[in-house]
Amino acid sequence: WVAASLGKQRLPLARFSGDSVAPRTPHFDVVVIGGGHAGTEAAAAAARCGSRTLLLTHRVDTIGQMSCNPSFGGIGKGHLMREVDALDGLCSRICDQSGVHYKVLNRRKGPAVWGLRAQIDRKLYKQNMQKEILNTPLLTVQEGAVEDLILTEPEPKHPGKCRVSGVVLVDGSTVYAESVILTTGTFLRGMIIIGLEMHPAGRLGDQPSVGLAQTLEKLGFVVGRLKTGTPPRIAKDTINFSILNKHTPDDPSRPFSFVNETVWIKPEDQLPCYLTYTNPRVDEIILENLHLNSHVKETTRGPRYCPSIESKVLRFPNRVHQVWLEPEGMDSDLIYPQGLSVTLPAELQERMITCIKGLEKAKMIHPGYGVQYDYLDPRQITPSLETHLVQRLFFAGQINGTTGYEEAAAQGVIAGINASLRVSGKSPFVVSRTEGYIGVLIDDLTTLGTNEPYRMFTSRVEFRLSLRPDNADSRLTFRGHKEAGCVSQERYERASWMKSSLEEGISVLKSIEFSSSKWKKLIPQVSISVKKSLPVSALDLLRYEEVDMELLASAVPEPLKKYTRCKELAERLKIEATYESVLYYQLQEIKEVQRDEALQLPKDLDYLTIKDVSLSSEVREKLHFSRPQTIGAASRIPGVTPAAIVNLLRFVKTTQ
Ligand code: FAD
Repeated sequence: WVAASLGKQRLPLARFSGDSVAPRTPHFDVVVIGGGHAGTEAAAAAARCGSRTLLLTHRVDTIGQMSCNPSFGGIGKGHLMREVDALDGLCSRICDQSGVHYKVLNRRKGPAVWGLRAQIDRKLYKQNMQKEILNTPLLTVQEGAVEDLILTEPEPKHPGKCRVSGVVLVDGSTVYAESVILTTGTFLRGMIIIGLEMHPAGRLGDQPSVGLAQTLEKLGFVVGRLKTGTPPRIAKDTINFSILNKHTPDDPSRPFSFVNETVWIKPEDQLPCYLTYTNPRVDEIILENLHLNSHVKETTRGPRYCPSIESKVLRFPNRVHQVWLEPEGMDSDLIYPQGLSVTLPAELQERMITCIKGLEKAKMIHPGYGVQYDYLDPRQITPSLETHLVQRLFFAGQINGTTGYEEAAAQGVIAGINASLRVSGKSPFVVSRTEGYIGVLIDDLTTLGTNEPYRMFTSRVEFRLSLRPDNADSRLTFRGHKEAGCVSQERYERASWMKSSLEEGISVLKSIEFSSSKWKKLIPQVSISVKKSLPVSALDLLRYEEVDMELLASAVPEPLKKYTRCKELAERLKIEATYESVLYYQLQEIKEVQRDEALQLPKDLDYLTIKDVSLSSEVREKLHFSRPQTIGAASRIPGVTPAAIVNLLRFVKTTQ
């Protein structure tokens, strides 16, 4: 069946079973390929959901490896981490155990867009992640390179599609599985580039995945090519930090995880970062040597986000660019010069570095390099991250065209949950754009696709005031517990306590009302600008920048004192008060979007041939490729016109 439907010349390398004779051991519920940031979250999530899971990866000692920057979080990315944590994912907790410099970015703006970020000790992160993964119940870890997929006949419910039922390793051994998740990062036909030299590698020191890339292409997946790069590493003791701008961490440190009140290391023991800048000499070296650079050229400048220094010089000539000198770990002798990603030949990289203030005597330990790799057009996956083409096959992480550990982790946790739910025949777990940054990330990928590495930003999110880092647990933990079973009872109880304490606290704050003159007597340091005759509630007052729960409780100890005992609760009450009035309008908009999301399109609709709905052939093709699941998703596909949406809407209403 499969060979016939694919056509002889397109027969995939994938092995097919389906005959009753095929040996069925070893057999897992979920097999995850790749132990990077998507793979670790996917494997742990599937296991938490109760699936017997196998994580297959090249090397156990590279599980949790940070391929590029020694940092996690930041603006938008920090939100993703809070959401991963709300689903009981790993990366936030591991960062709380492995950071060397914790700082909240974007503090000048409101707490809805604060970005928690930390410099991470690479070694410690890997150690802690490996400890966690190797001790997760129901999760087996095995070293091996997956070369191929085993495919079987489709389920009767979904004729016409083949189904994955296992994997083939490079040594020819097989593992069977009910669901398979691919999280192979930059490894699919990966090529490393320094200057004019290119050689096959997934990242420095690792083999690429070629067989798997061929299998996917032969199965009919649309494959594209992306680029990224990493800066050189510099010997710490060769840098003159004394003449540079020193940046210290926050005191106190704010943890990433909802389950932690603090991080493993005191602020005074954390490491500083330093800031320096490029100068015209750096530009000259880059521009004079473009002919020696096959990764970045005048015409192909590389990714817009996390750009190389060459592409910044080409895009923004005659400007200086920031270079952050970041520690790689507590006992590491290396410094990571963030902003200096470069693929010039090694000797020119060293020459460029030594032109920069503070780096005049710097010694380069490893050169920077570029990497080019295959990714799969993410419009070929559903919002549960299952592929349209092959049932029970899921993709997560950089393979879907994203960049960044946090984007990978966010997709990993969703793929792990859904691969597991698929095994037990339950409905998919989909996060909508109105519920989380994870929802925005996946909706953007599956409806818009991407032709450059996709990175999360707060500006991509419509409902920023609702989707805040502080309230990720109330948005996702309960759903994760009830619908997916991926959240521990302990975390669930903690989130429930917080939810009821917030509700109670808000209603108590609303109920305390005094005239403004009485408030002025109670807290003279705050200038209250309301009409004298109007009563002012404690909640209204809490919106003032200079008022916090401590101050209110000092004025009205009974009943407010008890809400200051938990620091997180006191802070969250303040944030709720800040956004309460504006959120009313946003909630109306959210309801409108949710109405469109509730209008489901039939899963197996053949957009190319369907006659009962009037659509142009261009729109038909776009819908056929992306297979949106709701009217809302269809309306976000570029080129799907408002008229087409009206026609689809009529069609849905008559068929539902
Ligand atoms: P990875 O972390 O790459 O993990 C892939 C895993 O799959 C590895 O463990 C690998 O061993 C395994 N694997 C692959 N193929 C197979 C197979 N066939 N069988 C078994 N196991 C397999 N991100 C940024 O945000 N900013 C940057 O500046 C940046 N620069 C980068 C520079 C370089 C050189 C590289 C390599 C990456 C860079 N990234 C950057 C990307 C960041 O590292 C990734 O986004 C993130 O690691 C993706 O996570 P992942 O889990 O999808 O893949």
